[in-house]
Amino acid sequence: MKWYQLDVDQVAEKLNVTMDNGLPVKQVADRRKKFGANVLEEEKSTPRWLLFLKQFQDFMVIVLLAATLIAGLLGEFVDAIAIMVIVLVNGFIGYFQEQKAEKSLAKLKELSAPIATVLRDREWIKVPSQEIVVGDVIRLSSGDRIPADVRIIKSIGMEAEESALTGESLPVMKHTNGISRDHVDPQDQSNMAFMGTLITRGSATGIVVGTGMNTVMGQIASLMVKTKKITTPLENKLAELGKILIFVALALTALVVVVGVYQGHPVYNMFLAGVSLAVAAIPEGLPAIVTVALSLGVQRMIRKKAIVRKLSAVETLGCASVICSDKTGTMTENQMTVKEIYLNGKHLYVTGDGYDIRGDYFLNKTKVNETFPNLQSMLLYGMLCNHAELHVKKGKYYVDGDPTDGALLVAARKIGLKPEHNEYRIVKEIPFDSDRKRMSVIIEDNNKRRFVVTKGAPDVLLPRSSFFMGEDGRKLLKKEDKSHIDHAINQMAEKALRTIAIAMKPLSKQDALDTTFIENDLTFIGLYGMIDPPRKEVRAAIAECRNAGIKTVMITGDHVKTARAIAENLQLLPENGLVLDGNQLNQMSTDELREVIDQVYVFARVTPEHKLKIVNAFQEKGHIVAMTGDGVNDAPAIKASDIGISMGQSGTDVTKEASSLVLMDDNFATIKAAINEGRNIYENIRKFIRYLLASNVGEILVMLFAMLLALPLPLVPVQILWVNLVTDGLPAMALGLDKPEEDVMRRAPRSPREGVFARGLGFKIVSRGIVIGLVTLLAFMLTYQNDPDNLVYGQTIAFTTLVMAQLIHVFDCRSEHSVFTRNPFENMYLVLAVISSLLLLLVVIYFEPLQVVFHTTFLSLRDWLLIIVFSSLPTVLFGFTKK
Ligand code: ADP
Ligand code: MG
Repeated sequence: MKWYQLDVDQVAEKLNVTMDNGLPVKQVADRRKKFGANVLEEEKSTPRWLLFLKQFQDFMVIVLLAATLIAGLLGEFVDAIAIMVIVLVNGFIGYFQEQKAEKSLAKLKELSAPIATVLRDREWIKVPSQEIVVGDVIRLSSGDRIPADVRIIKSIGMEAEESALTGESLPVMKHTNGISRDHVDPQDQSNMAFMGTLITRGSATGIVVGTGMNTVMGQIASLMVKTKKITTPLENKLAELGKILIFVALALTALVVVVGVYQGHPVYNMFLAGVSLAVAAIPEGLPAIVTVALSLGVQRMIRKKAIVRKLSAVETLGCASVICSDKTGTMTENQMTVKEIYLNGKHLYVTGDGYDIRGDYFLNKTKVNETFPNLQSMLLYGMLCNHAELHVKKGKYYVDGDPTDGALLVAARKIGLKPEHNEYRIVKEIPFDSDRKRMSVIIEDNNKRRFVVTKGAPDVLLPRSSFFMGEDGRKLLKKEDKSHIDHAINQMAEKALRTIAIAMKPLSKQDALDTTFIENDLTFIGLYGMIDPPRKEVRAAIAECRNAGIKTVMITGDHVKTARAIAENLQLLPENGLVLDGNQLNQMSTDELREVIDQVYVFARVTPEHKLKIVNAFQEKGHIVAMTGDGVNDAPAIKASDIGISMGQSGTDVTKEASSLVLMDDNFATIKAAINEGRNIYENIRKFIRYLLASNVGEILVMLFAMLLALPLPLVPVQILWVNLVTDGLPAMALGLDKPEEDVMRRAPRSPREGVFARGLGFKIVSRGIVIGLVTLLAFMLTYQNDPDNLVYGQTIAFTTLVMAQLIHVFDCRSEHSVFTRNPFENMYLVLAVISSLLLLLVVIYFEPLQVVFHTTFLSLRDWLLIIVFSSLPTVLFGFTKK
């Protein structure tokens, strides 16, 4: 017998689980031992030693090692061993950097791992999907990616899209009945839900019958292609640039070698120097450091509650020029409280805060109770047409489910109504979705009488109502009644209240149960007005974004007036700003929308489909758009946007998968924090690119100038390699951890098309590089000409000047403006990195055994004076210009 052939009870019995209790927590571990964790096996990862070896696969490094080997064979042991050690240490550093980047990416994956809701020991709990075991009773809802193979035991209009498995993209309706046939293909097993497929509509409960590799997906998993490592645009740009830089570096070093040989230097000496110079000058490690910087930035973002799902988003974030954000839950708390009720043509006011069930109803300052006409039935209907549950934990009430629904439960509790469903049975439910903006249930009472209750956006329900409930019973809904109700809706909305209408209709047994019939000719009962207070940090975040040249746009399914009131409260809507609603959007062509979109700040009464149109219009205007979303239908807009943002708490799996950023706290302010971080990371990357390349330019030029002037080599190969290792290593890393400049959030967004050298970076690199090369050369010449017999002395001076010039210049790289605008002690990593480089420098100069290795000699105080003056010139000079 297959799972789909069994009845629900048989499935439960066979798996030894009761549907009301779920699995006992005690059994879970045993079952996991028996069936394994709920994961698909992945391919084995590359062994560590191979990763380490990969550090040396670079062509010039191989040439260097070969040249060193020859040097060793020719008897230059000390040089050979020193070079070997430096190359090895360099390899270790590269290896550890890569490991670190990898680890933080793995952690990221863990953080964004899917969560499932299962019933264990009578309690619904959330567990990571990989901890699900066979026999778990699981809850599935619209937007979920199904985490295991599940036999459906209860379905509320659930439809699944199974193309991942079957290739068929039309959703399949799911039910609970056993299928008696044999050999049914997965696509026809309509009482089963399969791992990896999507729920597009409705919700369901089921029992897990297969996990991990024992699922239909697991059986075909081996056929799936392994995903390639995706590189970010910046990494691509750098890889491109790297090729050019390699060429330039090789050409220049070749020039150094040729000129050197021409001036009479021994070929062999020049060759080793040239290769060392090439190794030092080729920024082969740049893409790796960029990845490290990106992933470190990602970790900082995690601390600020933003999870980056795609590394490329870190870069794009810094370019965002428009944030389209959902209002409900992202800009507001998503904690709804009914404050007002409109019933029998009267406004009742409700006291109480949040989900606390204490509170009363007032009509003109006099308390009313359940005897107020129609109040009890209205609140009862609100409770029946409801998908949330109200629970209490440690005296505090909280809502499990949609907060809008939860607010109605709390409102009912305030006159003592509790959901006791033994009197009413739900025959059918059409769940709420943002497209329809309403929800309906068909109820059967104890006397087998049926009726439908519909609740939803008032402007959706009113046209579907033909009657209304007054103090003395049901009446025909005439034009003037409608305008009274409209007036009440507007009144509530202007107070920033979210409005929900409730309506009903008695049904007879023969009535058809299709949507078109049951949701028409309704009897309008009343309105709820609920507040959803703005999150307190949002107003400041919007203002900060505005300063940063980023426009914030509110998108909501709520009433125009409600949206406007909240937008004004948040100071999001400028005086000449426009508010558009879904109807207006429908009537506008894409061109028309594009023309006005820069003036629009609020989109109200929109459906998820509109979001796509909005994203497109902004993009056509050249904007880089961040778009938030939570429901299934938001996924296309999220995908189309430049930075798709999903909600960690209220979001569905589908939107999370489509997004590149997940907000752990669903909070708008977190978007701003992430953008801030994104800009900072990019700036830091610019900082160390600038530092590394300027250093390399300096190194090459000092050699080139010396050769042109027919001088001896100012630096020997080990010194060049030492500079590459020490000066370029730690300080560059520390720049990647730098704090942002004060004005990063006051600059306009960066263009995503800007090149690596944009905004004057190229000039900064070349100009500083030239001056670093020149001062090193001058220091060398001065010393050498005074004392031509002591070449080591001149070389030590050149080496020290070069190192010092770089260690000072690194502080210049922290600012786009001037080195004097920044406090050097702000970045203690950098200070420590510079101090340790300095100590290492002193060691190779003053520690006698190392003097032999590094071709150095003692320096006097007078020498240091010269060195310090020369080495600070590049930074001090340029500190006075703004270029
Ligand atoms: P939002 O962007 O504010 O989340 P929605 O599309 O969720 O907008 O809601 C739009 C409108 O639908 C609301 O203003 C309200 O009138 C109605 N509505 C919201 N939630 C529910 C619900 N659970 N049941 C019935 N109607 C709802
Ligand atoms: Mg909503």
